[in-house]
Parts: sequence; C-alpha cells; structure tokens
Amino acid sequence: MKARLELRYSPAHVNKPILSKAILESGVPINILNARLTATEGIMTVEVNADENVVSKIIGILRSNNVEVKEIPRYVEINRDKCIDCGACTAVCPTDALTLGLERKLVLEEEKCILCGNCLKSCPVRAVVLYK
Ligand code: SF4
Ligand code: SF4
Repeated sequence: MKARLELRYSPAHVNKPILSKAILESGVPINILNARLTATEGIMTVEVNADENVVSKIIGILRSNNVEVKEIPRYVEINRDKCIDCGACTAVCPTDALTLGLERKLVLEEEKCILCGNCLKSCPVRAVVLYK
C-alpha cells in the first residue's frame, strides 16, 4: 500500500531526527513530498510504500516522538510516463489544481485538489491515478 501522511512538528521538535529514527526502526524509506515551516510549527507531507502494519508502526514511532500524524486518505497522482500533456484534464478540473504550466507541461497543485475524480474520466491515456 502507498500511504500519505501529514506530519506536524512543534518548534521544540522541528530539528530532531525523528523521521530518520522512524526510517531506521521500520526499515522502510519515507519520501518527503513537501515541507514548510511556519512561526508555530513544521508541516511535512510524506509518502510511505509499505504494508499496513509497517505504516502503523511508522505512525506509532512518530506519535511517540510528539509528532502529530494525520493520514491523507485519498489523493491524485499523474503518471508522468503516460501523460502527453494534452490538457484535457485541466478543462474539467473545478479548482484549477491541474493547469498547463511552462512549455505546456501539466502541473498538479495537490493542495487545491478536492478529489472530485473528473480528471480520471477525461484522460485519454489513463495517466491519472486516484489512490485510496
Ligand atoms: S480530482 Fe478533481 S479537483 Fe482533483 S485534480 Fe482531478 S479534476 Fe482537479
Ligand atoms: S488528460 Fe491525461 S494525458 Fe492529458 S494532460 Fe491530463 S493527465 Fe496528461
């Protein structure tokens, strides 16, 4: 299973190697998709490709180290090997989460996505994947 997690660190824990600890103890890589720091907390979105038990173990390690963990239940991903940047999905996206950017390359802004599923149906080459 592929799981995405939103992690929130308080300022006291931002500089601690908590993610490294979770990687070492679980034996599974954790991919950081984005990270940002505000005045009051650090927020990170990570992806883990592992079975459910390992994902639960990682969540446990993080929580026991004072990291708030929220599972992101569903998300959209574009398979770049298949996408031909035709733009069909951008026309049906209600929130402009999908746009054609520089050199007419498809750009997905995940934070704008409301998981309506329109893009899945519109793609001629089935390049859009909705993870549950
Ligand atoms: S699922 Fe809906 S909101 Fe999300 S990228 Fe596709 S069309 Fe846009
Ligand atoms: S409709 Fe499919 S092929 Fe066309 S830009 Fe969107 S994801 Fe890429």
